[in-house]
Amino acid sequence: MLDIEGVAVSPDHFIGGRRVTSSDTFEDRCPMDWSLLLGRVARGTAETAALAVEAATSAFPAWAALGPVKRAGYLHRLADLIDANIERLALVECMDMAMLHESLKLRVIARGALNFRNYADLASIHEERVWSSRGTANRVIRMAAGPAVIITPWNAPFMLSTWKCAPALAAGNTVILKPAEWSPLSASLLADLVAEAGIPDGVFNVVQGYGSEVGAALVSHPGVKRISFTGSVPTARTIGHAAAENIIPFTAELGGKGPLIVFADADIEAAAKKAAGQYDDSGQVCMAGTRLLVERSIAADFLERFHRHTDAHVMGDSRHPATTMSALIHPRHLQTVAGFVDRARAAGDHVVRGGRIHREGGLWYEATLIEPRGNDSEVVQNEVFGPVLTFQTFADEAEAVALANSTAYGLAGIIYTGDADRADRVGRAVRAGTVWVNSFLIRDLTAPFGGIGISGIGREGGDYALDFHSDLKTLQILEGSVR
Ligand code: NAD
Repeated sequence: MLDIEGVAVSPDHFIGGRRVTSSDTFEDRCPMDWSLLLGRVARGTAETAALAVEAATSAFPAWAALGPVKRAGYLHRLADLIDANIERLALVECMDMAMLHESLKLRVIARGALNFRNYADLASIHEERVWSSRGTANRVIRMAAGPAVIITPWNAPFMLSTWKCAPALAAGNTVILKPAEWSPLSASLLADLVAEAGIPDGVFNVVQGYGSEVGAALVSHPGVKRISFTGSVPTARTIGHAAAENIIPFTAELGGKGPLIVFADADIEAAAKKAAGQYDDSGQVCMAGTRLLVERSIAADFLERFHRHTDAHVMGDSRHPATTMSALIHPRHLQTVAGFVDRARAAGDHVVRGGRIHREGGLWYEATLIEPRGNDSEVVQNEVFGPVLTFQTFADEAEAVALANSTAYGLAGIIYTGDADRADRVGRAVRAGTVWVNSFLIRDLTAPFGGIGISGIGREGGDYALDFHSDLKTLQILEGSVR
């Protein structure tokens, strides 16, 4: 057992209801203090993947046969246990990947519980579509598909794991979760809670290890019937090939390069505050509005307010309530972020603020704003996934929309305007899976979520996720032919 600030966390896999070790392990370190080795975690292999798929396959028929209402009983128990363990989960997640403890404790972990409640209820109240056509009675039936592999990234691992595992389990599939190797611990705690909730052995499994090893073995295993992936574009391409080999559905929620558009008719103070808020969690947020697009006539006013709000950010230990900007996840990621800014500077982009590693030996990077020399600058076109925003101005609505839609990504967008017609017009015109007007990150769990372009394939959320995790069947019976 690992001891994470007094919380016991198993470093092993969880397969078929029991802990399974691997002969090899990998290091898990704390981003807030890289000298702190949290522990060594089991490094899964192709054999581990095969064992997990076998366990999930054996558990599948009974779990699928239970039906959504009985499954909901288990999932509600799991949700209650998550709520009862918020403190422990928040602490471990904070130590493992440096997300702010306050927001984990107050919002993020509870959202994980809500994911299970929401999907349990949604699957239970599902009404099959029934209609009569051309002399036949038609009925659309959802059938559980089989073992689902869920692969998650290192940012927000608990929230994303629950967001993806809940619909799979509610739909009657069994699950093999592979968390990212940079933040593996909260998935292990989730496995403990699954066992405590009495969910039958093999229904939920966790496999630890590297993506290129156990991850690759899982997604190419012929026994797997669904793959739900969140992570980067290059990995999605690799997993997409594996899914194509076995002809199985796969969803990919990928990176973003969201616009945050501010019109002159907006509440400029609110927009500037929200823009500075894109540095929260040090910008390691896929949905962030990282390209600030501001109407030229209010640019100076906006920038003055934006700098004031950005100055108020506090970099530091994520356990302290005053901290607003966490450490980046890993020294390699810090170098990636620094590399983007260094290349931008060298190419002639103007670094308006920040642009430096904050503390010698630490993994903090300063809140950085860049005025690019042109829209084709690398830092405008590619996801940095750190505290780096770009600033561009526009003359009118058409130019704002053109700039907003000028990258290959299309995950999310944010618009600030006081005009209802414009909110509707620009909201429709921005090419993204989710567009917020005068707000950010408020999401209804029944809404579809996913990306356009290289931001992803497929939609999760609400019935969209339940449909993805089901094989839909149309049953047609000739009317009058049966009594
Ligand atoms: P990543 O693609 O490097 O890794 C994601 C996961 O895939 C990890 O668990 C990794 O081990 C696994 N993996 C890697 N290679 C694999 C392979 N060949 N086969 C199977 N699994 C493999 O991504 P990351 O760096 O961990 O995450 C950051 C990225 O995730 C960013 O681009 C971010 O925008 C994106 N993201 C998107 C969303 C969303 O909802 N759209 C949410 C969070 C993060």
